[in-house]
Amino acid sequence: MEKIIDESVQGNSLSLKKDEKNTRNLYIESYGCSMNFSDSEIVASILANEGFNTTQELENADLVLVNTCSIREKAETTVRKRLEKFNAIKKNRPHMKVGVLGCMAERLKSKLLEEEKIVDMVVGPDAYKDLPNLIQEIDEGRDAVNVVLSKDETYGDISPVRLNTNGVSAFVSITRGCDNMCTFCVVPFTRGRERSRDPQSIIDEVNDLGAKGYKEITLLGQNVDSYLWYGGGLKKDFDKASEMQIATAVDFANLLDMVAVAQPKMRIRFSTSNPQDMSLDVIRTMAKHDNICKHIHLPVQSGSNDILKKMNRLHTIEEYFDLIDNIKKIIPDCAFSHDMITGFPTETEEDHKATLAVLDYVKYDYGYMFAYSERPGTLAARKMEDDIPNDVKQRRLSEIIALQREHCLLRTKNHLNKIQEILIEGISKKDDTMWMGRNSQNVVAVFPKENYKVGDFVNVKMNDCTSATLIGEAVDFGKSN
Ligand code: SAM
Repeated sequence: MEKIIDESVQGNSLSLKKDEKNTRNLYIESYGCSMNFSDSEIVASILANEGFNTTQELENADLVLVNTCSIREKAETTVRKRLEKFNAIKKNRPHMKVGVLGCMAERLKSKLLEEEKIVDMVVGPDAYKDLPNLIQEIDEGRDAVNVVLSKDETYGDISPVRLNTNGVSAFVSITRGCDNMCTFCVVPFTRGRERSRDPQSIIDEVNDLGAKGYKEITLLGQNVDSYLWYGGGLKKDFDKASEMQIATAVDFANLLDMVAVAQPKMRIRFSTSNPQDMSLDVIRTMAKHDNICKHIHLPVQSGSNDILKKMNRLHTIEEYFDLIDNIKKIIPDCAFSHDMITGFPTETEEDHKATLAVLDYVKYDYGYMFAYSERPGTLAARKMEDDIPNDVKQRRLSEIIALQREHCLLRTKNHLNKIQEILIEGISKKDDTMWMGRNSQNVVAVFPKENYKVGDFVNVKMNDCTSATLIGEAVDFGKSN
C-alpha cells in the first residue's frame, strides 16, 4: 500500500484531560480511516464514565484497546505486530487487559481470542455501548466478545470526548455502515448495513463544538452522499417508509444546508463521497454556502469500465467525467482528490492506461493509491483470482503515484500569488516559527506566526510552494473570524 499524503496519525494513542475521580488507566490506539478515530472518541467517552482516565504510556495502562482496520492485509499485519508488543508488556503487568475493537474484531470475531492468546476482549463497531458489561466480564477473569452488528446504532446519543484535539477541527459522524458492496471491499461485512444518524443530534453536536470554540468540522461516513434520515432504520428499508416519513425525509444536501446555516462561521468538510450517490443538489448547496469547503474526495478506483463493472462500482467512467464536469461548472475552484486501486483481478495494461487517463483528465489535487489486496469474504475473493503479480501491481502503482505527484505540484502552483483564507491548525512540523493551516481546497499552507494564534482565520498571500505545501505570509485577519 502506498499513499501520497503522510500516515503520521496511524497508531496514534489518544488522551484527554484527567478526571481525579477515575482510578484506572486506558491506553487507546487507533488505525485506519477517520471513522475509526472518531469511534475511539465515542469509546473514550463511554469509558470515562466507567472510571477510566486515558494514558499515552503503555506501561501505565490497566486496559489497552486497539481500534483496528481490515481494509488491506497490511493494516491487519500492523495490528498483529502491536499485539506482540502488548504481550511483552503484559509479562510485567499481568493485570493489564487487552481488547481489540473495530473492523478486525468484526472480521475475525472469537477467532482472534484463539489466535492471539493475549487478547481478552473483542468488540465490533456497533457494540461499544456494551463495553461496561464486557469489561466487567474480563475483570472477573472471563474472555468477552460482542460483535453483533446493529440496524439502528449510530451513537447519536453519545457526546464524544475529543481526543488529542487541537481545539480547532473535529469529526462528526453522520452515517454508519455501507450498502455499496464494492466487490473488493470488506467494509459492508465489518461495519454492517448503512444507517443514518438523526439530523437533530448532528446539529446539536455541531452547535456544541461551535460553543466550545471549534472552527471546522468534517461530516463522516463511508458514503456521506447516501445519507437519508426518515426517522431511523436501515437505508435499504426506506421503500417501506410511510408517506409522512418520505415527505419529511432529510437527505445529504438538506443536512449540509442545515449544518452550514446552524454554524455560519464554521468551516464544513465531508468525506467520503461515492460518485454513484453524489447529487448536483449537494454541489449547489456547497456553492451556496461560503463556509462549505470547496474540496471533494471522490474515489473512482479505476479508469476502466470493465474493471469498474467487476468492482461493482455502479457507474461508468463517462458518468464520472460528467459529474466532474458538472461540479466544475457549478464550483470552478473546486478541488478533487481520489482513491485508486491498481492490480484488481484481470486488470490489463489497457485498463491501467485508462486509469492514468483519468488522472490526466481530472488532474486531482491529491490522491490515495493502493495495490489491490484480496480480502477474505469479499465477492472478489470468492469469485475472482488475484491474478496480477505483485511486481506488476507495484509497477503500475508507481506509475500512478508519479503522475499524481506531477498533478499535485500543478494544482498547488495554481494557488500562487493569491490571497486565501487559512484556518490555523497548529505549528508547522518543519519550522516552529511558522503556523500551519489549510485553505478551502484542503491544501496545507505555512506562514510566519506574527501575532496570530491557533484557530484564527488569516488571509495569507501565497508566495511559493512545494508539491503539497503553500508557503506564504499573513496579510490580515480573514472575514470568517
Ligand atoms: N467508501 C469509500 C468508497 O467506496 O469510495 C471509501 C472506502 S475505503 C475505507 C478507502 C479506500 O480503500 C477505498 O476507496 C479503496 O481505494 C481502498 N480499498 C478498499 N478495499 C481495498 C482492497 N481490498 N485493496 C486495496 N485497496 C482497497
